Amino acid sequence: MTIQLHDTLRGRKVPFEPLNAGEVTMYLCGPTVYNYAHIGNARPAVVFDLLARILRRRYKLTFARNITDVDDKIIAASQETGEPIEAITACYAKVYNDDMAALGVQPPDVEPYATQHIDVMIAMIEKLIAGGFAYEAEGHVLFDVGAHKKYGELSKRDLREMIAGSRVEVAPYKKAAQDFVLWKPSEDEQPGWDSPWGRGRPGWHIECSAMAEKHLGETIDIHAGGMDLVFPHHENECAQSSCAHGGAPFARYWLHNGFLSIDETKMSKSLGNVLLVHDLIKTIPGEVIRLALLGAHYRQPLDWSAETLSSARRMLDRLYGAVRGIEVSDEVRAAAEVPAALVEALEDDINTPKALAEFFALARALNKSNDPVEMETLAAQMYAAGDLMGLLCSDPEAWFAGHVEGDMPADEIESLIAKRNEARAAKDFQAADAIRDQLAEAGIMIEDGAGGTTWRRNG
Ligand code: AMP
Ligand code: ZN
Repeated sequence: MTIQLHDTLRGRKVPFEPLNAGEVTMYLCGPTVYNYAHIGNARPAVVFDLLARILRRRYKLTFARNITDVDDKIIAASQETGEPIEAITACYAKVYNDDMAALGVQPPDVEPYATQHIDVMIAMIEKLIAGGFAYEAEGHVLFDVGAHKKYGELSKRDLREMIAGSRVEVAPYKKAAQDFVLWKPSEDEQPGWDSPWGRGRPGWHIECSAMAEKHLGETIDIHAGGMDLVFPHHENECAQSSCAHGGAPFARYWLHNGFLSIDETKMSKSLGNVLLVHDLIKTIPGEVIRLALLGAHYRQPLDWSAETLSSARRMLDRLYGAVRGIEVSDEVRAAAEVPAALVEALEDDINTPKALAEFFALARALNKSNDPVEMETLAAQMYAAGDLMGLLCSDPEAWFAGHVEGDMPADEIESLIAKRNEARAAKDFQAADAIRDQLAEAGIMIEDGAGGTTWRRNG
């Protein structure tokens, strides 16, 4: 079976065929680095990290995720805080990568910074002007949407309707309200670069087009991002790139993730419900957050609540509980394959709910087995599945010893279990049961086995 992906342009799931056999190029719009990433921003990073892992099983992948380090929001942040722009962008680019790494996001193959690609952007803008797709006006260069027949195709918008319904106040130098900025002039105190149109800086959309061209080529296989980027950002990237490249398609497959809400409310600063990854990872294991983000299909909306997290934690406890105490040799581990049904689910438009169901089926089979050879093989398959999904990366004992604030610490649990065992040895079953109840109340389940008593958190 070929990999199936939902393409926004075609509006349906289609078989995936890369442009060049055996190789795939993928671009994901990365962060604008002037503040911390919130949990919604983490969704595309995690989902498309998983897609990169799925693609790497079959193809040589070149995955680019950019850093936008020139933007009016960054300039505003610098004015507000008095910090130099370079200090802000360097700090938040690092924080972003550290925070995403905590969620198991692997670094992309290429991480282009916008400010290091100004020459490529200028060259692309020059091509667009020469081709009659862009015009200069009062130090600005604008893309002329009227010159591109396919404008609106990706976001399924009709340009004439857009123009007719437009209430935007049109800048006097624009031919049409929908024309967007490729280059704009910079004041002396603003960051700027010399260009044929004077000292200025690029618009946001041209950054991605130019960086994708430079690192991945004129036509890329996959372009990804959150749903909100379809219009105008991706529509504009698509227009610029295909017009600069003689009409060649920009991306062959467009993938977009659904939005994340908090307790069924849109995340927003004014409501004060913005959850930063940087804060969440202080108390919640990154794997719990990752699993919570992968729990819903990536194109569906995802509502984030306390229950989302506790259910993800319970799920991980079940997965870790299954492999706990099973020795897996390096040879068996290296030979283990991810079960075909799990791979098939992921290759079917990243169907994570189905893939997780297959993961649990594997855990159940392992829990049921009494055959040590079979148990070792199944545990190895679980670790292989974990490697693919970015889960089950900790040592199970370390996992169960970990705790979040408010949970009973591991050493306290161990000492209660030791006391209970003493009580049992002394045949004081009343005391032993009381300790079991005390642990159960704290959400700790214990199990007595041949090798002693094991425990796990109940979520
Ligand atoms: P931004 O910094 O706003 O450009 O967002 C960075 C990435 O996060 C983009 O791919 C957005 O589409 C995505 N994104 C922003 N907010 C959310 C959200 N609430 N849910 C899912 N994705 C989001
Ligand atoms: Zn972009």
